[in-house]
This record gives sequence, structure tokens and C-alpha cells, in this order.
Amino acid sequence: MTTNKPTHSGGCLCGAVRFVASGDPIGGNHCHCGMCRKDSGSGVSSFVCFPTSAVTWNGMPTDYESSPGKFRGFCPKCGSSLTWRNGAKDSEIDFRLGSFDDPRPFKARKHLWMSTALESFAGIDPDIEHLD
Ligand SMILES: [Zn+2]
Ligand SMILES: [Zn+2]
Repeated sequence: MTTNKPTHSGGCLCGAVRFVASGDPIGGNHCHCGMCRKDSGSGVSSFVCFPTSAVTWNGMPTDYESSPGKFRGFCPKCGSSLTWRNGAKDSEIDFRLGSFDDPRPFKARKHLWMSTALESFAGIDPDIEHLD
């Protein structure tokens, strides 16, 4: 099969979970909420959103239901945090930006939950929702 769509491969740290997302992302953000901090162990969590139908898997993340109907996926072997999805909106899935083998094509500038952001991120304009 030939296609002109770009493909974006990624996976967890150990390689037990791999995925390929085809085409362009439909969204992306950097989330400063406390739950994402706990989930990632990092000060901010960056996500890239794709249609679920554009994604193929080799190995699957294990889901943790962090809020009712909201699922955070992680590798069952190495624990890498990989995905976030809303069970009520199964047509979309968010991937952690750093899980892609090459995250450089993704340029989302939208920042969520700046009201709970750490001092380190002061000065970021939360109103910038430009995606390019
Ligand atoms: Zn793994
Ligand atoms: Zn968050």
C-alpha cells in the first residue's frame, strides 16, 4: 500500500509497546495539572492527539482509570506513561509527546491548567492555542 500520509512511530522505553500514528495530529497541548505531574513524574506533560482510527499497535498499554471514564495508559513492563483518553470520546487518543521516536514534527503551543502550573513555568501565555 502506498500513501502520502506521514507516519509517526513511537513506543515505551523498553519497546514492549509500539505504535504508529498516520497522518497529521488533530491536537496537542502541554498540561500543567497535578494529575499529569503525578502520572509523568515531571513538571509538565506534553500530549499529541490523533484519531484512534489512525493508530496501529504492536503491544498494548495497560489502562489506569485516573478519573471516572478517563484512562491513562502505561507500559505493563517498564511503566512508561504513554496515553491519555476519554472513554466517552473513543474516536481520539492522546499520546505523550516524548513517546514518539521523533517528536520534533509536533509543534503544539497550547498550555492547559496554567492556574496550577509550577513557578518554573511562569510567564507562559495560556491563551496561545495555536497549532502548527
Ligand atoms: Zn515498556
Ligand atoms: Zn493534565
